[in-house]
Amino acid sequence: MAVQWLLVCHGLVTLLVVVSFLCGQWPIFQGTFIQRIHFFLTFGAYDYFRRFVLFSCGSRGVDALHSAEYYCCDRPNPIIQLIYLLIIGTTYYIIAKSSFIYIPGYYISGIHRYTSFLAVGVGIILFLLTSFSDPGVVNSSNVSQYLSAYPYDNIIFTEKECHTCKIPKPARSKHCSICDRCVARFDHHCAWMNNCIGERNTRYFMAFILWHFLICIYGIAALALILAGRLKDLQVVHILTVYYDIENSYRELAPLVLQWLLNSHNTQILVMVFLAVITMLLAGFFTYHAKLCLTNTTTNESFKWQEYLSWQTKVNEAKASAAALKASLGELSQEKKPPESKWKTFFSRSHLEEVEVVKNNIYDKGYLHNIYEIVAPFSTRRSFLLKKSKTG
Ligand SMILES: [Zn+2]
Ligand SMILES: [Zn+2]
Repeated sequence: MAVQWLLVCHGLVTLLVVVSFLCGQWPIFQGTFIQRIHFFLTFGAYDYFRRFVLFSCGSRGVDALHSAEYYCCDRPNPIIQLIYLLIIGTTYYIIAKSSFIYIPGYYISGIHRYTSFLAVGVGIILFLLTSFSDPGVVNSSNVSQYLSAYPYDNIIFTEKECHTCKIPKPARSKHCSICDRCVARFDHHCAWMNNCIGERNTRYFMAFILWHFLICIYGIAALALILAGRLKDLQVVHILTVYYDIENSYRELAPLVLQWLLNSHNTQILVMVFLAVITMLLAGFFTYHAKLCLTNTTTNESFKWQEYLSWQTKVNEAKASAAALKASLGELSQEKKPPESKWKTFFSRSHLEEVEVVKNNIYDKGYLHNIYEIVAPFSTRRSFLLKKSKTG
């Protein structure tokens, strides 16, 4: 019974944390309804909590809360890393405690006791690699190589200097305010990893998400096979049809079998539901990042492009309105001329308004090249290192 309670608490906390974080980092989720939930989970509830602290502890309590907020949200810290380890550790513990007694089973061999441990181990190694690897920090010794590796597109990246690091800012780089350093091909600062995701560790980050998606699928499949084996071993279908005289059809048997599973193996069912929800979240998150990788765009750049395109659209609309105004003023001054047909005016105006705004991403060089850039980042290649030794 204790395992079930542990599972329910663990599931609820995990989902709250995962959904809250994914909503914050994931532009797909920025719809009005989910945005409101996310806002409540992150800022709204926190604001009520701050008011409560002010009411109960006074201004000293609020100062302490602000210090904690600064430590937790604005400085690098391992809290979320520990939460990840707690989530994966507890999930594995619950599965091992509740289901390893059925391995080997009718449909599952004994090897899965070890392969499941191996799968989780690889997941943790990928987590450590992403968390503690160099994301591609730009410093005075490698800035010239990064400047030549990533040329300025003069659209979303122009020649600039980082005011904090006092070095030129290569195109695609960004100064991470949490880590206080410039990172090449900056994607985002990941609180789960307590590290920036950049030029050198996007490959580990992608492998991490994909691997955890696969682990969840593996967990669901293994638990399904264990439950199928239990049904077979205990001859549940046979007992239902022979002793309880239930018709041997899917429609009649399915609800009763499900009821039996919920009564006898509720831990496994709850773990499967939990894993299914995490699988869907990870699938969406991976698809979003894979699309960015295939088009050689970073999360940071996708926001920059959104801003640029909406600004460009507004500029074009303003230009079209100015041109239309100029044309109508011209018509007024040429009153003697025969009036133009309404159709001609309609088409000439629409021509002015439909100035296409295009996203010209110079870093997108085709799927294969883009994937290669993730797998073998510029700064790990021989040509980059040779330049370094020449300039050094
Ligand atoms: Zn900087
Ligand atoms: Zn960072």
